[in-house]
Amino acid sequence: MVKENLKVIYNKQIALDTFEMKLETLNMASFAKPGMFINISLNDASKLLKRPISICQIDNNHLIITYKINGEGTKILSTYQSGTSLEAIGPLGNGFTLVENKKTLVVGGGIGVPPLLELSRNLKKLGNELVIILAFRNKEAMIYLDEFKKLGEVAVTTDDGSFGFKGNALDYLHNNNIEFDTLYSCGPEILLKKLEEKYQGFEGYLSYEARMACGVGLCHGCVKGEKHYCVCTDGPVFKLGVIYGEC
Ligand SMILES: Cc1cc2nc3c(=O)[nH]c(=O)nc-3n(C[C@H](O)[C@H](O)[C@H](O)COP(=O)(O)OP(=O)(O)OC[C@H]3O[C@@H](n4cnc5c(N)ncnc54)[C@H](O)[C@@H]3O)c2cc1C
Repeated sequence: MVKENLKVIYNKQIALDTFEMKLETLNMASFAKPGMFINISLNDASKLLKRPISICQIDNNHLIITYKINGEGTKILSTYQSGTSLEAIGPLGNGFTLVENKKTLVVGGGIGVPPLLELSRNLKKLGNELVIILAFRNKEAMIYLDEFKKLGEVAVTTDDGSFGFKGNALDYLHNNNIEFDTLYSCGPEILLKKLEEKYQGFEGYLSYEARMACGVGLCHGCVKGEKHYCVCTDGPVFKLGVIYGEC
């Protein structure tokens, strides 16, 4: 983990209230793994707490993050132009465990989709066969469909039926019997909880969110599960069964 000033290369809207930001970094990209996140300081004196955002794409000296406007901090983030310097710490968290030569089911919900892009690229390189379900509220919220289509068989669901299957990812899984060895997911907590229940005993890795302050395991503001795991340092990725399987 390092503290660095990252330079905004671009910051563009890619879907409803959703932005993609490319950041130049000296050191962070070399430590970054799919599923890890960075904790970004906003250049605003009224916003002392950093904002945790997952790493969506990694190359030699760049990180791409994708975020949805969710409150004042992410609204401020959306205004930063190319050339802005942003202090951040990272990469943080444990990242996804990567399997090889398996049939993997990747399930993304809403703004949980971005970290699954770098994950899926890595899984594909490791010889895995990917079935990918991307769930969104509506067509306007869809992101990265073309990118995922290059990596495996993709099904899209929208709550309102404006694109693809009408319903959510769980409805889709209920209607389609998909066989797989390993499950990966990131999305709303209710989706992750239901997946833990439905696929008890399967190998799976799920990325959870929690409101967090320090991001490095000191404040214990982001604990989850009966054993009070810190999402920032024990997670954000947990083995299937760890957060809800024990309750
Ligand atoms: C490990 C991790 C990875 C994340 N990755 C992404 C991502 O890739 N894209 C994305 O759009 N969002 C992501 N989030 C959620 C994102 O951090 C929040 O949407 C953001 O912090 C909200 O800040 P705000 O000032 O706009 O909202 P406000 O509600 O005004 O924020 C107030 C405070 O609550 C905290 N907070 C609010 N919502 C959350 C939340 N869901 N999780 C954690 N802290 C929160 C903020 O950090 C801030 O300190 C991630 C969260 C975590 C924990």
